[in-house]
Amino acid sequence: MPPTESDDREPVRVELHSHTIHSDGVLSPADLVRAAADAGLAALAITDHDTVAGVAAAREAGETGHVDVVGGIEFSARANDHDIHLLGLFIDEHDDELLEATERYRRIRHERARRMLGKLESLGAPVTMEAVERISGPGSIGRPHVADALVEAGHVPSANHAFRRYIGVGRPAYVRKPALDAADLIRRIHGAGGLAILAHPGSSRVPLSVVRRLADAELDGLEIEHPKHRRGDVKRLRGWARRLSLLTTSGSDYHGPGRGDTALGEYSVSGERFRRLRRESARYA
Ligand code: AMP
Ligand code: FE
Ligand code: FE
Ligand code: ZN
Repeated sequence: MPPTESDDREPVRVELHSHTIHSDGVLSPADLVRAAADAGLAALAITDHDTVAGVAAAREAGETGHVDVVGGIEFSARANDHDIHLLGLFIDEHDDELLEATERYRRIRHERARRMLGKLESLGAPVTMEAVERISGPGSIGRPHVADALVEAGHVPSANHAFRRYIGVGRPAYVRKPALDAADLIRRIHGAGGLAILAHPGSSRVPLSVVRRLADAELDGLEIEHPKHRRGDVKRLRGWARRLSLLTTSGSDYHGPGRGDTALGEYSVSGERFRRLRRESARYA
């Protein structure tokens, strides 16, 4: 049984962490919403990396497909020199200060890709920005797109090899992404009416000291059930959430077929937990 909270014969399930072609996912927002409906999900949060560009199309598809689409984002952030991801859930995607942050990231990601391409060139594995931009399509440029460009150019046999050999953390063409401060991003998420949730703290290896500081900066919750979390992570994070009075969420971090081996809705929350989260978000509305 996947770690899903279910009760009745027809349990309501909600997916709170998913990606589209507007970042490193492979499905369009409309196709992702259709996939959610097919999977029997009542609601779906679109949480692309550093952009809300896919939310509007998903909302539109949700209205005809009977899926309750939640405005979301997964921000890259820095907290005490740790690289972390912050989910914003129930956000208004039209909020000015939120959009100002996403615009900054658009430029940051482009410049960082350019620097990685420079390193790849000097390592004898040149790829063009045109190729990376074509592969990333309308979305936030990220390392997965650089990885695909490396495969396309014949420098590596798979994206996995690209990370291991060139662009994974600590590899020779890796460039650390400049990131906005977590406290600032939490403020912006709240300003846009959303809950700020620390994404996959286990796989990001965030220590308790940093979680405490984030809690002091009004972080709302921790993502507990996640494909990259081991049983030990889940247990430890539950303890932290209880101790710091933080909300808890689950998410599949779905990137579409062929990207990762997690199914949409595999790590879902129940309808009851979803309603509780939505109620909690109302304080920022
Ligand atoms: P970026 O935000 O550009 O640094 O890219 C990070 C994204 O790359 C993550 O959200 C994952 O989707 C993906 N990623 C990170 N490490 C790997 C890896 N070793 N293999 C495949 N994809 C990865
Ligand atoms: Fe990703
Ligand atoms: Fe993430
Ligand atoms: Zn994600």
